[in-house]
Amino acid sequence: MAIATIDPTTGKTLRTFNALTPAELELKLQLSADTFRDYRQTSFAERARWMRRAAELLDAEAERFGRIMTEEMGKPLEAAKAEARKCATACRYYVAKAEGLLKDRPIEVGGDTAFVRYQPLGPVLAIMPWNFPFWQVVRFAAPALMAGNVGLLKHAHNVPQCALALEEVFLQAGFPAGSFQTLLIETADVNRVIEDPRVRAVTLTGSEAAGRSVGASAGRSLKKVVLELGGSDPFVVMPSADLDKAVETAVSARLINNGQSCIAAKRFIVAEPIAAEFERRFVERMKRVTVGDPTDPKTDVGPLATEGILKGLHAQVEQSVKAGARLLLGGKPLERPGNFYPPTVLADPPPNAPAFHDELFGPVATLLRARDVKHAIELANATPFGLGASVWTKDAAEQRQFIDGVEAGMVFVNEMVVSDARLPFGGVKNSGHGRELADLGIHEFLNAKTVRVA
Ligand code: NDP
Repeated sequence: MAIATIDPTTGKTLRTFNALTPAELELKLQLSADTFRDYRQTSFAERARWMRRAAELLDAEAERFGRIMTEEMGKPLEAAKAEARKCATACRYYVAKAEGLLKDRPIEVGGDTAFVRYQPLGPVLAIMPWNFPFWQVVRFAAPALMAGNVGLLKHAHNVPQCALALEEVFLQAGFPAGSFQTLLIETADVNRVIEDPRVRAVTLTGSEAAGRSVGASAGRSLKKVVLELGGSDPFVVMPSADLDKAVETAVSARLINNGQSCIAAKRFIVAEPIAAEFERRFVERMKRVTVGDPTDPKTDVGPLATEGILKGLHAQVEQSVKAGARLLLGGKPLERPGNFYPPTVLADPPPNAPAFHDELFGPVATLLRARDVKHAIELANATPFGLGASVWTKDAAEQRQFIDGVEAGMVFVNEMVVSDARLPFGGVKNSGHGRELADLGIHEFLNAKTVRVA
């Protein structure tokens, strides 16, 4: 796939980029390895000074960075600017916390001195997606750099300007050249980088298919890998929930980022006594959403990022309707240039329908009805994925049942699932393994060295 900026609002190709030649890639890999030798010796105070400056740049240039994101992948401009500012908060979180999180951990062994010392691994390859083109990268880079690792970014082919802007942020902030580099390379060349002995670990955020390929390649090379893959997150509403708040949040949780978020709520599982009322209000609210030009402040939902995503999503909707799902709203691409798909609601799909078990990456919601808590948990778990879950109930016993019973890496009660620098982020089952952010995230790419001194 060509490395290019194709405006999803118009379908026009705005810029194309050449992939690195083998010789250029070799120079960058060597620079990464050479930089690591010195960079790992830098103090927390030095790294914190650079990271603080990176946060300042992300804040100060949120408008410019936001416009690049919107131009390349179509998210509403205000959300894109907010994304740049959110990246600044992640940088500041690790400025404040990294040293404390990575200090030696003493262990009582009786007599001898024993402790765990955390040391960086080296160059880490980050393979990142286009959906949160700044946030996904910074949530890897901020902890990795603060821990003394160096980063190599292989970004999605449709966000090359975001990739280059991020490299510029870290360079301008003062990080040594080579500590964070963008590699403009084709997908076909990724395995070669994973296998390169100078690269010590790999992290991927993306689809299940990419996860299988990258995970297999990292396994063959015996390299640590973190996989943040897709999700088909349940949003469960029980009779005791605040229905107004649940409906309002359900719409936001489904439509965030034009519906293209791994932790967007995708399957709305509603208790039977309130299901008809929830359905009526939810469809009504989805109808009032404004779809349009993502640079217009009145727009709630912009275009999907690529034509491929649009076609794939529509095929999933058509298959679901054919399998027996009721189509309550939307259901076909808008007749205008660009990759526009309207807010769409499907109800009661059978288990063989994509809307029942697959990830639908766009503004399409699936409604399901649950007889009781046990059935709601069964439906929540009836997917190969296990990323996040949002459950709405004021009943403490029900809350406990959901927290224990839902197969997911994250459960949020009476609020939507969000990615927050202070909270570990990641999934189970086909949503991948490993964690990003918070304390668990910074520990993923470290040698936890056991030391015992007699
Ligand atoms: P991909 O998984 O294809 O892309 C994510 C990143 O992985 C990109 O940098 C991509 O590079 C790279 N990649 C893809 N295949 C391989 C491979 N075999 N080996 C190494 N790197 C690879 O996502 P898509 O953009 O195709 O989106 C498809 C689906 O993925 C969505 O519908 C959604 O279900 C899921 N997805 C989930 C995301 C999440 O946040 N968990 C984010 C994005 C997508 P390149 O672009 O060059 O192919």
